[in-house]
Amino acid sequence: MSAPPSRPRRPAPTLVPPDPAASPPAPAASEAPGVAPRPREKRPFLLDFFPLESEKETRLSRFYDRLREGRLSSTRCPRDGELHWPPRTACPGCHSEELEWIDLPEHGRIYAFSAVLAGAPLGMESEVPFAVGLVDLEGAPLRLFGRIDGRPWSELRLGERVRVETYDIGDGRWFYRFRALP
Ligand SMILES: [Zn+2]
Repeated sequence: MSAPPSRPRRPAPTLVPPDPAASPPAPAASEAPGVAPRPREKRPFLLDFFPLESEKETRLSRFYDRLREGRLSSTRCPRDGELHWPPRTACPGCHSEELEWIDLPEHGRIYAFSAVLAGAPLGMESEVPFAVGLVDLEGAPLRLFGRIDGRPWSELRLGERVRVETYDIGDGRWFYRFRALP
């Protein structure tokens, strides 16, 4: 008696790079009639590192409205005084949804940083190298992650003072980053 012949293994799928000329990608929602196309290259939603910001899309739209005004802010719970980061729709301590918005300090100091030298996220490839890091805000018990601009990453130092900056990422959405002081 011999063992039954094993089933032939399926050949491994062959990865073929897509031919960009063969089938153009489907138009994105921003190309719908009457809607201006985004000025920057389009990013697939799941690889888009910036959040959707409108009131229709997030209950934290006030955070982004304030970024447009040049203000970095977050929520605080009037009941227990807890300051949140990131901003919340409900207090993680007492679950109250009656939160107040407060402006955060405009300066901080670099607690840690690193540099993106390769493999930048989609849409940021042309900006390599750039620095990202953790910044301790002055006068608030918060340590924020963000990009640090204003100087080559190799010239940044731990403990160095930076200021908060808000900016339009190029498609109408706003975000914050840090800028090394001159
Ligand atoms: Zn609370």
